[in-house]
Amino acid sequence: MPKKTIDDIDVRGKRVLVRVDVNVPQDEQGAITDDTRIRAALPTIQALLERGAAVILMSHLGRPKGRPDPRYSLAPVAERLSALLGQPVPLAPDCVGPRVATLAHALQPGQALLLENLRFHPEEEANDPAFARSLASLADLYVNDAFGSAHRAHASTVGVAAYLPAVSGLLMRRELAALGGALDNPERPFAAVIGGAKVSSKLAVLRHLLARADLLLIGGGMANTFLRAEGYEVGASLLEADLIDTARALLDEARRAGTQVVLPDDTVVAERVAPDAPHHPAGIAEIPPDWFIVDIGPKTRALYARTLSTCRTVLWNGPMGIFEMAPFAEGTRAVAQAIAALAERGATSVVGGGDSVAAVEELGLADRMSHVSTGGGASLEFMEGRELPGVAALQDR
Ligand code: ADP
Ligand code: MG
Repeated sequence: MPKKTIDDIDVRGKRVLVRVDVNVPQDEQGAITDDTRIRAALPTIQALLERGAAVILMSHLGRPKGRPDPRYSLAPVAERLSALLGQPVPLAPDCVGPRVATLAHALQPGQALLLENLRFHPEEEANDPAFARSLASLADLYVNDAFGSAHRAHASTVGVAAYLPAVSGLLMRRELAALGGALDNPERPFAAVIGGAKVSSKLAVLRHLLARADLLLIGGGMANTFLRAEGYEVGASLLEADLIDTARALLDEARRAGTQVVLPDDTVVAERVAPDAPHHPAGIAEIPPDWFIVDIGPKTRALYARTLSTCRTVLWNGPMGIFEMAPFAEGTRAVAQAIAALAERGATSVVGGGDSVAAVEELGLADRMSHVSTGGGASLEFMEGRELPGVAALQDR
């Protein structure tokens, strides 16, 4: 069921409490090293300000363990927001309490205020009703634009919705439309590319996609467990021995469902897991004992690129190899390039998952994808077919 958004209601003259996800990475000096998440929150903030709302922003930053800690202050974010919006966004001294209420109530239409880190209070993650009510008391309306936090049932993502009309922001809407569209109504052929370290962390994703995709391309460390299930030796590679039977069952399930599962034909093996280790391509039947599979091989790169080029929808989660080490990033690069090329032909390409998104950004291909999710854990849970609590709490359209 689609959710109500800020486009469905009149916000003029209202005080609007907006949950954003501006949990940005910082260096040791506190300088923001990547402001993607702040920029992603701008369209909703700008729309609300332009439409005559007073905007009260709230977010968490890092893991401050439920007490105030200047290292996790949102001050640098307030500064960056002010610069990007071209108007002052003052930082409140806290997120609840009488001083914050005074600031919130003094706010005029077209003005914005950022509340201090929600996680300075343990009640945030505990989804404490009294804390949620205090947050809600600051405003007339609640907007959740924090897709990246929507898989958590916290006071600011779920609790407040009990006390205020609750609608979705524009980023949230875009995320749900892109991920939901690929999963529920894909143009076919629809391929899912699943990689990453472990089968165990992607089991639910694999199951959910298996029933929906026409093709499932598997890479990364998790491919080893599937290769083992098919009878191949994988040397010293990452292997989840307790999941070999599960992998075999998944392959059988796919066959029954008519989903074509494509496993690597060849790999790159390294003597050690280190960027300077000796490495070379190896077919899946010739993995040397004591060596490590660190990437998909050149034949597989070509096979996956060719296969993807025929698809109309591709959903990608999980790198094809240990891409953090440059010599083992070729598989991830090849797949990323093949997926990026699709959007130019009008096909849909959606990337989700923290490391996959980092890889796409590092490769400079993010702009060429139809959609790159801002939610790591949230996008994974969405791909598992789970309803995110922060989405469930919003009003249906
Ligand atoms: P995402 O965050 O996109 O969901 P994951 O967290 O599942 O992705 O997986 C990313 C990790 O998988 C990376 O750190 C990468 O180094 C690791 N990985 C990929 N291929 C292999 C491999 N062959 N052996 C060990 N680790 C791998
Ligand atoms: Mg990850």
